Amino acid sequence: MQSKLTFQDKYDAIGKQSKLYEGVFITAVKTTGIFCRPSCRARKPMPENVLFFDTAKEAIQHGFRPCKICKPMEKMDETPNYIKSVMEKLYENPFLRIKDIDLQERGVEPNQIRRWFKKHHNITFQAYQRMLRINSAFNDIKRGETITSSAFSNGYSSLSGFNDSYRSIFGGPASESKHKTTINIARFTTPIGPMFACATEQGICLLEFTDRKMLETEFKDLCKRLNAVILPGENDHLGQVQSELSEYFAGERRLFTVALHTPGTGFQQSVWKVLQEIPYGETRTYKQQAIAVGNPNGVRAVASANGSNRVAIIIPCHRVIGSNGQLTGYGGGIYRKKWLLDLEARNNNSQHSIQRGITSNIPLNAVLEHRSGGRHAHS
Ligand SMILES: [Zn+2]
Repeated sequence: MQSKLTFQDKYDAIGKQSKLYEGVFITAVKTTGIFCRPSCRARKPMPENVLFFDTAKEAIQHGFRPCKICKPMEKMDETPNYIKSVMEKLYENPFLRIKDIDLQERGVEPNQIRRWFKKHHNITFQAYQRMLRINSAFNDIKRGETITSSAFSNGYSSLSGFNDSYRSIFGGPASESKHKTTINIARFTTPIGPMFACATEQGICLLEFTDRKMLETEFKDLCKRLNAVILPGENDHLGQVQSELSEYFAGERRLFTVALHTPGTGFQQSVWKVLQEIPYGETRTYKQQAIAVGNPNGVRAVASANGSNRVAIIIPCHRVIGSNGQLTGYGGGIYRKKWLLDLEARNNNSQHSIQRGITSNIPLNAVLEHRSGGRHAHS
């Protein structure tokens, strides 16, 4: 925690217009889905609707969007004009995709903006845009607005414009929900960051950290395979997965019983099956996994099928490591892979945790050095 201020201290400081608390905390408002600097001039929210975060990044990860009035993504008094103009566009329309070529046309060097975001918010510009888009679509539909009103409240002048954006994230137009399978989506928090879970009537079909790079691709792929649309909503499996995960994170659960619905090729299915056979607290190499599926020479194919796993943690691709014992790439970020393996090692029976006792002893530095080698999203 960056600050030792209490909730009340922070709440009292909101809107004082002093810059004293600038950079100390971020105010997020549950009812509007917006986050602000402490000094924002917008109307002061009721305390029960307020959440405080240390950084803007955390607020975005939890699904909030930056306020148009106080512009919390821009550092006070030191934001270059080229950043301001690009941000202005994103405030107007979170669904906008600003590509390198658009930046170059505005005379902005793409690397420049990437460095600025990384330095000030520890987030890439692409990741920032991606999260804004997904959050915006998620929140609008969740609020139960009609598709038309979400479209217009997001600044679209036409319904087709909104549908195009929605389709680009969730793979199909929201209006087709009556004629298709519905995949329900929920967002919740874990000790290592917020996650999305998706479920059909059959079971959980996706479980990923909200900042995962491949998320939009996975949404689209799922919609296509299941001829489905993704809409926020209630579903028994979504309730069950959240309670099982909270037990898992508390070290109280080793096995998951929630039903899964994982469309994929026959080969992917067999790889995902042997992943689920790796006991809690243990690890396997890709080579061992290749042998387990009866294809000893298929190490690369196995790694690739691991990378296509959409159900993190429950289909435990984090338990597969390089033959040298190194933690290789992980879609949710390598520090999460280490965190999960450490959690399982700590809570495992002592006789088991010794067997392949590689997890707890690896310093995070060594892990991070290996990061760039992670070709496969989830392996
Ligand atoms: Zn504000």
